[in-house]
Amino acid sequence: MSLERKKLGSVLIKPAGPDCNMACAYCFYLEKSELFPESRTHRMSDEVLEETVKQVMTQGQKQVSFSWQGGEPTLMGLSFYEKAVRLQQKYGHGHLVGNGLQTNGLLIDVQWAKFLRRYSFLVGLSLDGPEHIHDRYRLLRNGKSSWSRVVDKARLLLDSGVEVNALVVLNDHSVLFPEEIYEFHKSLGLNYMQFIPCVELDPDDPDQVASFSVPSEKYGEFLSKVFDLWLADFKDEMPTTSVRFFDSVLFSYAGLIPPECTVLEECGVYVVIEHNGDVYSCDFFVEPGWKLGNVMEDSLAALLNSERQDEFGWMKAVLHPECQECQWLRYCRAGCTKERLHNPRDRTLNYLCPSYKMFFQHADKRLSQMADEWKCQQMLVDTPRIMNLEQGVQAPQKIGRNDPCPCGSGKKYKKCCGRAT
Ligand code: SF4
Ligand code: SF4
Repeated sequence: MSLERKKLGSVLIKPAGPDCNMACAYCFYLEKSELFPESRTHRMSDEVLEETVKQVMTQGQKQVSFSWQGGEPTLMGLSFYEKAVRLQQKYGHGHLVGNGLQTNGLLIDVQWAKFLRRYSFLVGLSLDGPEHIHDRYRLLRNGKSSWSRVVDKARLLLDSGVEVNALVVLNDHSVLFPEEIYEFHKSLGLNYMQFIPCVELDPDDPDQVASFSVPSEKYGEFLSKVFDLWLADFKDEMPTTSVRFFDSVLFSYAGLIPPECTVLEECGVYVVIEHNGDVYSCDFFVEPGWKLGNVMEDSLAALLNSERQDEFGWMKAVLHPECQECQWLRYCRAGCTKERLHNPRDRTLNYLCPSYKMFFQHADKRLSQMADEWKCQQMLVDTPRIMNLEQGVQAPQKIGRNDPCPCGSGKKYKKCCGRAT
């Protein structure tokens, strides 16, 4: 075991394993039931739940987050999550706890909505867009449409004051409709959006991506169009909608650590806990080779810092020669490892590389500008605090229009962050 250097901050838990009450054609997780053949249904026991919560609360940072996913995690019933919250209260002494629930929405009702609101769960609701887009692949188990039921649940959650993030899977069909999808979610009040590119191998021909996967360059066109729509919605120079990928890369542009693992230098910053307590390296690598241990026998903090998890993390840092030379590497970080290993033509260059190049070429100037503006604001806010410590309270320094910009761009203030003032 290596020294414990990664702090346990977030865990992804699959309390109902791969079980689901829908049958989406592009789902990568349904087939995982083959890993757990001992029973047809998969449910986390009270013992595994308590041990998991206890370890996260006692080994984790002061601020921890639990992400409940599946399959479909609401199959556990509301009482399971009431128990989880009670355990978080029991074992958390002064901790800040965040809970996220990723759901298809079908089982959500008024009681669920009240609970989710009361305990400030952030809900990721899978809704691909208007009916003809959503129902292309997201169907009920009987093959019927799920769209109107999911839209009703979105309204119920929003009306109840629950924070909802729309999770949109981009596939060969949905990727053609950036404007329709963005405007649809906005019109429902779903102003937080996360677009997830679907890249799966064809099970009948693993040298090809599955037909429903997003074409490698179309994702870039989609992101570029949505970026323009997102910018057009700014009011008083502030965004009125949130698109997770833009938020994440803005962190990188501002020199901060982004919250999304796909644009980090290495993987391995969180672990996945399956219903039976088995711990894996990542949501996309729930497979025997990346099983790290079991929460009933091992410490989560030790597994997070195990050699095997380090090996997993470093895979991302091994770059294709084209990435090593690429001007976008510091923002793209060569994308998610899963999309690199699953590239049928080249085992290390990301399948979505053409899209990343297209997007950064399109958005780079504006993203740089926004990051500079943000840094400037931080400096203006920070200046009096530093002076306060060293010299007593003083008014913030006034920057002349011809002074060097404090963001460090090397430009004059009036040509950089001071443009709008
Ligand atoms: S493989 Fe992809 S999803 Fe998994 S940790 Fe790495 S970047 Fe994140
Ligand atoms: S844009 Fe392509 S070549 Fe550049 S770092 Fe990203 S994946 Fe690599």
